[in-house]
Amino acid sequence: MDAYVFDAEFAHDVRRSNEATHKVLVGIAACERERHFVVLGFGSIYDWLIKRHKFSESATHRRVQASRLLALVPEEKFTQGEVNLTTLTQVATSVRKEEKRTGKRLSNEAKRELVAKIERKTSAQTEQLLATEFPETSTGKDSIRALNQDQSRLTTDLPQATLAKLERLKELLGTQNSAEVLDEAFTALLQKLETKETPRETAAKSLPSKLRRYVIQKAKTCEYVDPVTGQRCDSTHNLQVDHIIPKAKGGTDQLKNLRCLCRQHNMHAAEQVFSRKYMDKFRTVRAPTQGYSAWH
Ligand SMILES: [Zn+2]
Repeated sequence: MDAYVFDAEFAHDVRRSNEATHKVLVGIAACERERHFVVLGFGSIYDWLIKRHKFSESATHRRVQASRLLALVPEEKFTQGEVNLTTLTQVATSVRKEEKRTGKRLSNEAKRELVAKIERKTSAQTEQLLATEFPETSTGKDSIRALNQDQSRLTTDLPQATLAKLERLKELLGTQNSAEVLDEAFTALLQKLETKETPRETAAKSLPSKLRRYVIQKAKTCEYVDPVTGQRCDSTHNLQVDHIIPKAKGGTDQLKNLRCLCRQHNMHAAEQVFSRKYMDKFRTVRAPTQGYSAWH
């Protein structure tokens, strides 16, 4: 095939692809505006795209961000590729950071001007332009410089909300010195985090082994039942005793609060109560012996 014919056909395909992307973004904007995802049984526009339409998390993030600026972009600019998903997402992300930093909404007019400035720009050029437009938002990195043996200077960007917390703490502690406030705050947080017991420790301390054996021998298999399908697990591997109401939430060692679960479902049950992120910290730790472990 002639190279020029090939190129013209390819250009046509690219335009079609841009049109399709534009249409998807229009759809996302409409779904968010009309809150269709709520009726459809999803907790957020993100859930709807990820679970129902199998978008990856990063693809979802980019498209939702871009869709929020879409009304400010003439459709032609998008289908001709003068503005694309990547550059539009870059603008949306910067705008959001700037708004968070200043605590003020940027006007649609200002956003429209910004979007016009990135026409025909590459992603790198867009990044540069945004750094010039929002110099304070763009320098997101901390810098630490040693002043002398005892002191260093930390430079960091704070959102207005964080700064307000600092000011409030200064009032409460009766000082104007930020370093003093930070030291107090860090000490208090460290104390809280370092003395906090893990669910593993709480459980291991308390449940008598006789009771553990009784619960497991009585149930014989994992008692987990899928609430939707009614499917019972019935696994006999790695059986553990689970507190239905976790001890950390005031649950007791009484029999009616105990059930037998396999390791997978014990973990699943714990995730319903504690966050996934928190439980991930324990995930690599092997369960103790005697078919009993931690996640109560
Ligand atoms: Zn199970």
